[in-house]
Amino acid sequence: MSDYITKMLIVDDIEANLVALKAILKSENAQVFAANSGNQALKILLEKQIDIVLLDVQMPNMNGFEVAELMRSNTRTKDIPIIFVTAINKEEKNIFRGYELGAVDYIYKPINNEILKSKVNVFIRLNEQKQIIEAKTEALKEKIELLEIAEKKLSQLARIDDLTGILNRRGFEEEFHREWSRAIIYRSFFSLIMIDIDDFKMYNDTYGHVEGDKCLIQVAKTFEKSLRRPFDEVARYGGEEFVVLLPETDENGALLVAENIRKSIEALKIKNQEAPVLGHVTVSLGVITTIPRIGQDKEELLHRADQALYQAKDNGKNQVGLASFEA
Ligand code: GH3
Ligand code: MG
Ligand code: MG
Repeated sequence: MSDYITKMLIVDDIEANLVALKAILKSENAQVFAANSGNQALKILLEKQIDIVLLDVQMPNMNGFEVAELMRSNTRTKDIPIIFVTAINKEEKNIFRGYELGAVDYIYKPINNEILKSKVNVFIRLNEQKQIIEAKTEALKEKIELLEIAEKKLSQLARIDDLTGILNRRGFEEEFHREWSRAIIYRSFFSLIMIDIDDFKMYNDTYGHVEGDKCLIQVAKTFEKSLRRPFDEVARYGGEEFVVLLPETDENGALLVAENIRKSIEALKIKNQEAPVLGHVTVSLGVITTIPRIGQDKEELLHRADQALYQAKDNGKNQVGLASFEA
């Protein structure tokens, strides 16, 4: 037994038959509606959410088959199971052609109470099962939606660096791959900047690791602010190293962005008193530009940018190094 009460419509042009049917069906787990014509039946079918129709075939004006035909043509009623009640001889079954598919059954007059009850019962049970399955399906759908949202959030989180809130190495790899492929397709420039904080070990040694972490956060936020274009991305590559992706940016553009970043960090004037360069936190940067081609090794791009960065360190830090890239 389920909590769901099946709604049943009985249709017969003779009032006495309706009364008799109602009496027979009283004991079943169903709410019974009655109609004494095809028109009235269709009206009720559209107003109520009827689950089963017990439909008299021989009726004036519109017979049971015509009612069924109209039901089949309306999306709201087309799937409602029908039990036809008919006096037609069992041999004249060809008249039922076209109704064989779908949930359809027949009861022959004179009605045998027990047969009617058991047939109706089968439909009621089926309908109850259907209701249970529909409710479960709905609940499952909701759960799946929630799971999908959680999954999205999780995979977003897996791309984010806990400390600074910018992309982490994994997020970078994904963006790098995507933008690199796009650049190959559009044959567009592609630039990349490697950044490393100067004398950061000294900073940690002087002010402690907690202050070091705060400095990393501030520096990362400043990188973010220096990037203007929607597809520019900065990521924490590891430790105190960062990387900037500049799709559709040529060498001059990339050098400009790098120099802006360098200046904006210098302008923060975060004290690093033991640092030999300026006594402030500064960064060194390595810039590289290419027009990516299929077969070109994108890791080589990172490697060359790193070399340019260490050239900048060698030349005295707080400056931009430029790499050439021929694959
Ligand atoms: P250089 O100018 O040549 O880059 O010198 P450096 O001291 O910055 O370079 P090095 O690679 O020797 O040291 C990097 C230091 O960055 C080591 C470590 O103390 C610090 N560091 C790396 N990751 C973190 C972090 O997550 N938090 C803090 N507070 N410090 C970090
Ligand atoms: Mg380093
Ligand atoms: Mg460093």
